[in-house]
Amino acid sequence: MLHTKDKTFSKRDFRNAMGAFATGVVVITSEHEESVHGMTANAFISVSLEPPLVLVSIDKKARMHDVLGGEDCFFGISILAADQQGISDHFAGRMVTQSAPEFMHLSGVPVIKNALVALATKRCHVYEGGDHTLFVAEVLDLQQVERLETEAPLLFQCGKYQRLAETCLAD
Ligand code: FAD
Repeated sequence: MLHTKDKTFSKRDFRNAMGAFATGVVVITSEHEESVHGMTANAFISVSLEPPLVLVSIDKKARMHDVLGGEDCFFGISILAADQQGISDHFAGRMVTQSAPEFMHLSGVPVIKNALVALATKRCHVYEGGDHTLFVAEVLDLQQVERLETEAPLLFQCGKYQRLAETCLAD
């Protein structure tokens, strides 16, 4: 059996391999020191239906890590649509758009305006995850576009944005 020190792959190999797993893209938003802080993430999963729980994995070096670690933390999670790549880049610090993306409030929690789905959540569990921390949150409220199944989500795979083929979207 291989031991930790015997690994035959590099950090880059691991990153590339994990990049093969296609995901959607979300923006996490939370009030912090009287303003909203936003961050793009794709390490997001639905965890439980009863109670409704979701999980995000945040790099310990990210500013958002301190924000989500705060006391009694409420945060928004907005699932982006295919035409919201600029918003993803903005909150990943890749490209700061001229006009900052707009927020709205859902049950008092900031979320991205016009996202496919917006969730208002409250952090409930925190787990150690190597150089990341896993934040599990209970969903308190949600809002979704009317015809979700016909709206294209923004996708991310192999380090690039991707889109669903038109034929995958129901009429
Ligand atoms: P910063 O880098 O300081 O902020 C991010 C950007 O948002 C900055 O440009 C800032 O100006 C802007 N911004 C923040 N708040 C506001 C506001 N109120 N108004 C206007 N602009 C604002 N990292 C992870 O840890 N986990 C992941 O799952 C993850 N997934 C990613 C998926 C994708 C597709 C991409 C592109 C990146 C992902 N990242 C992920 C990386 C992460 O998004 C970046 O490292 C990000 O810069 C970290 O944000 P930060 O909290 O350190 O804040």
